Amino acid sequence: PGANGNYTVTLIPGDGIGPEIAESVKSIFSAAKAPIQWEEVDVTPTLVNGKTAIPADAIASVKKNTVALKGPLATPIGKGHVSLNLTLRRTFGLFANVRPCVSIKGYKTAYDDVNTVLIRENTEGEYSGIEHELVPGVVQSIKLITYQASERVARYAFHYASEHGRNKVTAVHKATVMKMSDGMFLEACRNVAKDYPNVVYDEDLLDRVCLRVVQDPTPYADTVMVMPNLYGDILSDMCAGLIGGLGLTPSGNIGKDASIFEAVHGSAPDIAGKGLANPTALLLSSLMMLRHMNLFKHADNIENAIFKTIADGKAITGDLGGKASTSQYTEGIISRIK
Ligand code: NAD
Repeated sequence: PGANGNYTVTLIPGDGIGPEIAESVKSIFSAAKAPIQWEEVDVTPTLVNGKTAIPADAIASVKKNTVALKGPLATPIGKGHVSLNLTLRRTFGLFANVRPCVSIKGYKTAYDDVNTVLIRENTEGEYSGIEHELVPGVVQSIKLITYQASERVARYAFHYASEHGRNKVTAVHKATVMKMSDGMFLEACRNVAKDYPNVVYDEDLLDRVCLRVVQDPTPYADTVMVMPNLYGDILSDMCAGLIGGLGLTPSGNIGKDASIFEAVHGSAPDIAGKGLANPTALLLSSLMMLRHMNLFKHADNIENAIFKTIADGKAITGDLGGKASTSQYTEGIISRIK
């Protein structure tokens, strides 16, 4: 922490509903006296040599603070625009995407007891962006898997499991078909498993996991699932669906030089500026951030206030079936902070 006992964290409010939900997080953090000093930066892209780039100030801030909370960024449609999210991922080497999905009491879905954690390799696989046309009508897309990136994400999965009281890591794969690429991913996981004798290691096929999770998510409550990029992208949204959708789902992007926490949803242009947005996903992301910084007490205090407010049901936002505005919901949480 700095001289005043606070930790400085970069805040990227983002586009659309981003500034509204970021405001909610800021006022809840200040009510809970969380020791965080926000350094707000703008990531509106600039053009450098004809290419979109993130402003240097924003990059410098994240590099200096090493932790950031980020609102959604609208991806400009059209040629020549690289996704800013992808740019951030590449700039800071964000190699692991962590997505917990935990049922929220009081918000009824098909299951009451979902508690899954999925860690997705974030830098390669099918999303390496290596595609070319061989001859007209025939396109090749390369799935790139390296031992190094597989080992790095596997090691993080085992570390996460042991830090968060989960006694198992499950590698999710299709090595039956992708023998070499997924085969190497598994080899990396097996080797890392040897360094964690207290964590059980097992492997399961992606299609089987999809089938089983939707039939009964409870057996997944003690494991951390780790997998290559594309599988994680899809399976994590499926898990989000089990707890009520993207409005409630947080995530963390863990990197070598920095970690960026963000809601899974986008900028929701249809409701932006109307005070209707649900800030829960960004709030839960900010709690992942606090726990990443070992500020567990503050995270638990805010989390209890969120869950009580949702369970009470009187001040919840429209997407959860209520009538409250973003600020009424925020007030509800603040009134329950201890
Ligand atoms: P979206 O997640 O923004 O919206 C989908 C639907 O969910 C909308 O009806 C929206 O109103 C609703 N919704 C989303 N978040 C909500 C919240 N917090 N409270 C209440 N309702 C909420 O997805 P989209 O419309 O496909 O994307 C909009 C923009 O966001 C696009 O430019 C896209 O590229 C970008 N995007 C950014 C990120 C990111 O920054 N991580 C992620 C996804 C999409």
